[in-house]
Amino acid sequence: MFNGILITKDDAGYRAQVQPIDEAVLSEGDVTVSVEWSTLNYKDGLAITGKAPVVRRFPMVPGIDLAGTVIASSNPAWQAGDRVLLNGWGVGETHCGGLAELARVKGEWLVALPGTFTARQAMAIGTAGYTAMLCVLALEKHGIQPDDGEILVTGANGGVGSVAIALLAKLGYQVVASTGRVSEAEHLKALGAAEVIDRQVLAAPGKPIGKERWAGVIDTVGSHTLANACATTRYRGAVAACGLAGGMDFPATVAPFILRGVTLYGIDSVMALLAVRQEAWARLAQDIDIVRLDRITREIGLPEAVEVAAQLLDGKVRGRVVVDVQGGRPPL
Ligand code: NDP
Repeated sequence: MFNGILITKDDAGYRAQVQPIDEAVLSEGDVTVSVEWSTLNYKDGLAITGKAPVVRRFPMVPGIDLAGTVIASSNPAWQAGDRVLLNGWGVGETHCGGLAELARVKGEWLVALPGTFTARQAMAIGTAGYTAMLCVLALEKHGIQPDDGEILVTGANGGVGSVAIALLAKLGYQVVASTGRVSEAEHLKALGAAEVIDRQVLAAPGKPIGKERWAGVIDTVGSHTLANACATTRYRGAVAACGLAGGMDFPATVAPFILRGVTLYGIDSVMALLAVRQEAWARLAQDIDIVRLDRITREIGLPEAVEVAAQLLDGKVRGRVVVDVQGGRPPL
């Protein structure tokens, strides 16, 4: 038995609670990991609260991210003692995830923990930070340079947004942060934002095309925000869309794409190829400012994770949350 969050769904309803879990609950896999740190992402909030049908199998251990040490492996790529991390692949949705002391996963899903990071730091980055890096890479590969102009980041106080600001600022870009919490403007500026705007500016239905402003955009919000961001992106600019915190719809026209040559990149972290993940993590190891990362990271234990998951969906959490899965006990 080991400790973790277990989500169950039966006649009594949908519940997520910390409890002892039998190893038989774990999913199939060729590598067993002693999980030291996990984290809470938007999707974990949906899974734990049941607000969207993210979990597809019950009982389920939530947690789309994990970092820890291999304790058993029949996969030739990994041996007991290897330090590893995992993001996505349906873990925490269809395959038992990281918010428990033990995880059994497929070896091909694992990435070696970069030597520059502790397991806790890797989880402070987590799927949110790795997705932010995928967005930054999309803009870079499009050819956008720091002196091309302003980069808009929406959902700025969230996990993806916060890490995106920190990364872009470190790389020398001028970042404009869009947020519903303008009271946090000083915090966003300390992270690296040059300017902070109220998200209402982008949230209302807008024109098919507007005044050109952004050289690039990282959007975590979707809906009118994404449509307005595309409509105000400069000629040959690019928009990396990764989120739907404001809605899944995309009420836009083709005007920005056919009149300004704007490119819209879809960013998916969950099923990204291993080579893409390795590139993103290598760049994170090089480009993330650990001091800034620490500034946006809050640490909790497993018992608090259920409550904080609901706060995350209510937009009350700033930055990143790491979960100390073993709670200071000796690792399994
Ligand atoms: P967080 O909950 O940490 O942040 C989301 C932020 O979005 C909030 O902090 C808030 O920022 C803003 N927001 C919330 N509600 C609204 C709203 N109704 N209208 C406009 N803005 C809103 O989530 P993450 O940063 O972890 O994830 C952000 C999005 O990216 C989510 O939709 C998530 O599902 C998606 N995602 C996608 C991935 C992929 O692979 N494509 C991977 C990871 C995340 P503020 O207070 O600053 O306004």
